[in-house]
Amino acid sequence: MGTPLEPRTAQAEEVVDRLLEEYPDSTISLRYSSRLELLIAVILSAQCTDERVNSETEHLFEKYDGAEDYAEVDEEELAEDLNSITYYNSKAGYIKTSCQMIVDEHDGEVPDTMDELTELQGVGRKTANVVLQHGHDVVEGIVVDTHVQRISQRLGLTEEERPEAIEPELMEIVPDQHWQQFTHLLIDHGRATCTARNPDCADCVLADICPSEKGDAEVDLASGEAW
Ligand code: SF4
Repeated sequence: MGTPLEPRTAQAEEVVDRLLEEYPDSTISLRYSSRLELLIAVILSAQCTDERVNSETEHLFEKYDGAEDYAEVDEEELAEDLNSITYYNSKAGYIKTSCQMIVDEHDGEVPDTMDELTELQGVGRKTANVVLQHGHDVVEGIVVDTHVQRISQRLGLTEEERPEAIEPELMEIVPDQHWQQFTHLLIDHGRATCTARNPDCADCVLADICPSEKGDAEVDLASGEAW
């Protein structure tokens, strides 16, 4: 078991420093070429891998060009165009309704405030944060996806369980210039080493400061259960 640094701000800073070194090119893996494409890709990525989303949006973004196209298409046709994505029926509805709102209330442009974004269907704070950060260069918070949630808990950065409660805790301890990168670093680490089911603690750059390290820690702090 590793020993986390005290206070939590020191732990958070050390985690960022080490992961920056480990994953110097860490960035968003969804492909898009406009704010609207980014919004759509992020909506599609809920409960679905970025890889799957990228392969589906390749043809989607060729067929549809702008919010009006999505607003006007028959919802069943749009769902059919998304049918390899999890929950594609619901997501087709979210995209169509959001694009109708973007056309009617925002002159066809993806809005640039948290309040306006979260009024769109299928857009919660996490999606809005990604769109603000990568579409508008506005960093208002920390995107807490499943990797950020799990690894922050394992590293003792939070004891909260819900993303909405984890985000403000992380914002207290992660230096604000790293809020955006923090997410990508933890996602890369979650994919490469600190996987959900079988983390490779023996080969982890954070092992000595991780209270969940499998070597002699008995409990996975993310699940609260024994390894
Ligand atoms: S891989 Fe193991 S040591 Fe590294 S952060 Fe995850 S649980 Fe901790």
